[in-house]
Amino acid sequence: MGKTDTKMLDTDILIAGGGMTGVAAALAAARNGARVILCQDRSVLGGNASSEIRMNISGSSTIGKELETERRESGIIEEIVLECSVRNPQRSASMLDLILYEKCRAEPNLRLLLNTTVIAADVEDSRICSAYAVRESTEESFTIRADIFVDCTGDGRLGFEAGAALTTGREAIVEYNESGASLNRDAYRLGSSLLFTSKDMGRPMPFTPPKWARKFTEEDLKFRNHDTWEFGYWWVEFGGTLDTIKDNEHIRDELLAIMLGVWDHIKNSGNHPDSENWALDWFGFLPGKRESRRFIGEHVLTQNNIQQAIDFDDVIAYGGWSMDTHPPQGIDAKDEEPCNQPFTPYLYGIPLRSMISRNISNLMFAGRNLSATHIAFSSTRVMATCAVMGEGLGTFAATAVKRKLPLGQAWRQSVVVKEAQQQLLRQGAFLPGMMLEGNLAKLARISASSEQKQGTCSNIVDGHTRAVHGEKGVRPDLTTAGTHRWMSDPGDRSPWLELEWEEPVTVSRITIVLDTGLHRLLMLCHLDVIQKYMQWGRPQAETLKEFKLIAHDERGRMEIAHIKDNFQRMIHLPVTLKNLKTLRLEVISTNGLDHARVVEIVCE
Ligand SMILES: Cc1cc2nc3c(=O)[nH]c(=O)nc-3n(C[C@H](O)[C@H](O)[C@H](O)COP(=O)(O)OP(=O)(O)OC[C@H]3O[C@@H](n4cnc5c(N)ncnc54)[C@H](O)[C@@H]3O)c2cc1C
Repeated sequence: MGKTDTKMLDTDILIAGGGMTGVAAALAAARNGARVILCQDRSVLGGNASSEIRMNISGSSTIGKELETERRESGIIEEIVLECSVRNPQRSASMLDLILYEKCRAEPNLRLLLNTTVIAADVEDSRICSAYAVRESTEESFTIRADIFVDCTGDGRLGFEAGAALTTGREAIVEYNESGASLNRDAYRLGSSLLFTSKDMGRPMPFTPPKWARKFTEEDLKFRNHDTWEFGYWWVEFGGTLDTIKDNEHIRDELLAIMLGVWDHIKNSGNHPDSENWALDWFGFLPGKRESRRFIGEHVLTQNNIQQAIDFDDVIAYGGWSMDTHPPQGIDAKDEEPCNQPFTPYLYGIPLRSMISRNISNLMFAGRNLSATHIAFSSTRVMATCAVMGEGLGTFAATAVKRKLPLGQAWRQSVVVKEAQQQLLRQGAFLPGMMLEGNLAKLARISASSEQKQGTCSNIVDGHTRAVHGEKGVRPDLTTAGTHRWMSDPGDRSPWLELEWEEPVTVSRITIVLDTGLHRLLMLCHLDVIQKYMQWGRPQAETLKEFKLIAHDERGRMEIAHIKDNFQRMIHLPVTLKNLKTLRLEVISTNGLDHARVVEIVCE
């Protein structure tokens, strides 16, 4: 035995794994009042999005249409992405690490343990009593007791150690009647990848590959586009026929040989003479892992569930990426496309029960180890979807803690699930078919300085916080058509909105939902060509930049907020307004659009 110190830690919720899922889960739980410990085995947060791997955070927003189909994820991930866009025009991968770190550091209820690996669990009567973690950098170990344990490790290490039911590989068609599944069950999965970035150095840059680099011809790469060089390549994929956990070191070695072999082809084959001045400036040594273990939860999400966009009572997140499967042989499947990506017809709901272990009563999970079949996982696995799952999970776990309910009771009680769903909506999350209740603003008479026909001021209390009636939006029975926002007339130089209550109301919180162009792609991405589809490096044009709120309550009329330099979608204002008669929002400027937009005003 070693001589390391073992510290006892006690918390409400332990989250293992600080990828986008774990970070969102930890922030949501801590912001909702639970004491949280987040253990991340590496020195930076973000998992596959971190500077160690550099994959872009995608989600549902690859397709969208203004005022019709707004698919981009909102809530915590939107807060992070908007901040990254404004603070990181240079598209530095390290800036995202920093923003995630800052967000966690800012939460008083959240204790972040970096460089800390969860390696074991103590289980009694199908319940985890404590987890065991080590931090080599300080020669310490931790025994962590919690009410709820959450596995966001991607590989499912905590749940695996606890004996949670799980699966790996690809299901057979007959298991869940999935048309996309294989005839027979197999152990294959999506492979892992190493990415790189490169730069035009303005002068010839020779490249000498290591002698173990693989050799590729143009014919070998005929289905794999390698005409742009600044960021490559997700299809440098290997390990899908192996065990992506146990064979990880071998997979890394082979991926280095492949990645450097592809670069050798670009630089030295003669097929890409324009690459002469280009040189690698970074490449990963840590394989970006797509798939390993998937837990078996109280519900297993299937291809049919997501294609039918089932209206789950316990919907807690949503997805909308394509069902994105790859040949398990990865780059060695030379005669096949590197992916197959059919879209689901609609954005689809993800139920809480897919995050609740079937056999360990206080274990939850989300991210790529969600309880889903291989085909459903191929869509849910993208990181913005992982983050909304994390926010849903964290919010629910904190709700259970607040009510002092064991997890096993909490998820079975619809009133608790509903409380968490309502809180998620309040935070800015989107749950298909669900609306926030109890908005006192609905009782007010609403007027405005001007309005467009498609953006009347009454929209700000209609309960919908995005337009999703268009193609590839949500199931038609889960929304109504409309822009669902106030849009002032472009000729109106001083737009304002006013709410007036006949019967004065008492308000302790005002939430304003602004437009951040959710129909548009927005992600930190090292690929240049994609930048033209985004408004990266600045606030989104639709968002109000500066505005004032003026309230008239029993103390008289007064300015209660003057928001400046805003780029966020959600403005939360704790207030104490008794006998509130009017609330007026005066717009001073937008971030570029020629008219003002407000999506929703909530008074509670
Ligand atoms: C090459 C590649 C391309 C991809 N393309 C895209 C894309 O374009 N867009 C997109 O959104 N997604 C993409 N994906 C998928 C996506 O990256 C993953 O599905 C996603 O990262 C899953 O998020 P996660 O939080 O569940 O897991 P991860 O991102 O893997 O994060 C898990 C974290 O847990 C930590 N951890 C693991 N074990 C422990 C432990 N025992 N204790 C403490 N911490 C632990 C890990 O260090 C890691 O930081 C891609 C993946 C790869 C590999």
